Amino acid sequence: MATNTSLPRVAYFCMEYGLDTSFKAYAGGLGILAGDYLKGAHDHQYPIVGIGIKWKQGYTDQLIGEDGQPYDTYHNYDYEQLLEDTGVVVSVEIRRREVRCKVWKMTCFGNATLYLLDTDIEGQQEADGWISGQLYGWFGEERIAQEMVLGIGGVRALRALGLDIDVYHFNEGHALFAGFELMREKMEKGHSFDDAWAASRKQIVFTTHTPVVQGNESHPIDRLLYMGANLNMSAAQLKKLGGDPFNMTVGALRLSRMSNAVAQLHGVTANEMWKKVKGRSKIVAITNAIHRPTWVDPAMIQTAEAGGDLWQAHMRNKQQLVEFVKSRTGAQLNPENLIIGFSRRAVPYKRSDLIFSKPDIIDPLLREQKVQVVFSGRAHPLDDTGKGIAANLVAMARRYPNSVVFLENYDMTIGAQLTRGSDVWLNNPRRPKEASGTSGMKASMNGVLNVSILDGWWPEACQHGVNGWQFGDAFEHPDETIHDAHDRDALYNCLLNEVLPTYYDNRPKWTEMMRQSILSTKDYFAVKRMLEEYYELLYTT
Ligand SMILES: *Cc1c(COP(=O)(O)O)cnc(C)c1O
Repeated sequence: MATNTSLPRVAYFCMEYGLDTSFKAYAGGLGILAGDYLKGAHDHQYPIVGIGIKWKQGYTDQLIGEDGQPYDTYHNYDYEQLLEDTGVVVSVEIRRREVRCKVWKMTCFGNATLYLLDTDIEGQQEADGWISGQLYGWFGEERIAQEMVLGIGGVRALRALGLDIDVYHFNEGHALFAGFELMREKMEKGHSFDDAWAASRKQIVFTTHTPVVQGNESHPIDRLLYMGANLNMSAAQLKKLGGDPFNMTVGALRLSRMSNAVAQLHGVTANEMWKKVKGRSKIVAITNAIHRPTWVDPAMIQTAEAGGDLWQAHMRNKQQLVEFVKSRTGAQLNPENLIIGFSRRAVPYKRSDLIFSKPDIIDPLLREQKVQVVFSGRAHPLDDTGKGIAANLVAMARRYPNSVVFLENYDMTIGAQLTRGSDVWLNNPRRPKEASGTSGMKASMNGVLNVSILDGWWPEACQHGVNGWQFGDAFEHPDETIHDAHDRDALYNCLLNEVLPTYYDNRPKWTEMMRQSILSTKDYFAVKRMLEEYYELLYTT
């Protein structure tokens, strides 16, 4: 089938793409979303191309040392056999030097069409060659350089490739400099700053992600000028766009005609969070979704639809997880007993050790292997607090060697194993800080029951006691100690009074809940619906 040619043609900009476990051009959820989106665009014949960076070393491989502490390693990836050389090279002036960016095309992994910019080329100054070295590597200046390659280089690549684009979609504020380039093109033709801004806005849509203020990148205006990211705009003009210091999210909200949040609750949170930003685009909510062929065992969906034996189908995936854990860590989980999966970026608001917070309750359950927990998760390489969280989980795994497991170097393989083979998918962020949480969607379509705080996507899907469980009753509190104590009690209550009795004493109810979990989520949270909403609410308005 040919691509639908009557629809707007979209260029999607993102720093990271999680397309395949072997292709480490992603750090976490943002990249997984981008990868699933592109694969969906191909499956459903949407005229969409992705723009990204060809990372020489990708993101960190975060391993656990003998001392139980995480450490980071990087190595060069050799994936040029996956890429096609377009022959196009574009230039971006960064720090007053011309930086050349080679443009690669990728069409593997679901045949998503993705153009990747690469500064590591012959004859380039070494420092400039490293701009595309490490995803989110180093500090402020390097980040701006990377974002200039993505945004400014990305638009120039589209021009050089001769691709006509109707809509420029910035996935996260990282891509904002693409908007500056669209403005520069117009100003160079004689338009004023205000006219160029207004006209460029009509071409741009924006997806905002983290509802944590510090997670929204900002830079001193001086630094933008020094780097040359301003593309001849003055400090005063930059301030009008993104404030001072210059906030990339604020800039993207002001330079887009429409924005979206990534779940309904996140829509409420994001509107509240950015309500003081004057002249910003409207933020609508489009709940994230997943690429089912990548994440979901088709046998689980077929068995659920046919009314077959879901427990047997699930046990195959669970057995695989048990073997996977054994091969990675040596731990011997008991496949007959409950396995809880928990895999998250290691940051405090995700509270990965909440389940350990009342030792007198959890200790006997772990000793008897009645509760087994498999963790994974990486911290940002520069985040020592996050690394401390991971080290705590490793310490628990050493204390309970066959009932607590920490899998180092969280990646798509681990993500897929855990969201297929666990019995329960636990999620306990401090509401409302979780933007969406697509891992829970993977789990639910695999018949892995969500046990989650009502945050991110879960309020839209949860039917308590029917297709999974909520705990915490949407409680929020400005005092984190009170908030955490409330949710901790709620978690134990749910675990002891609902999850454990159902698992151990009422298998028919459990398998019926698995069926409900699969059937109630498999269509709505699949990427087809998300793409339809992008077209309806962002691209054609
Ligand atoms: C699915 C997935 C994510 C995103 O999941 P969240 O629920 O947002 O945490 C991140 N990393 C990997 C490797 C994944 O597979």
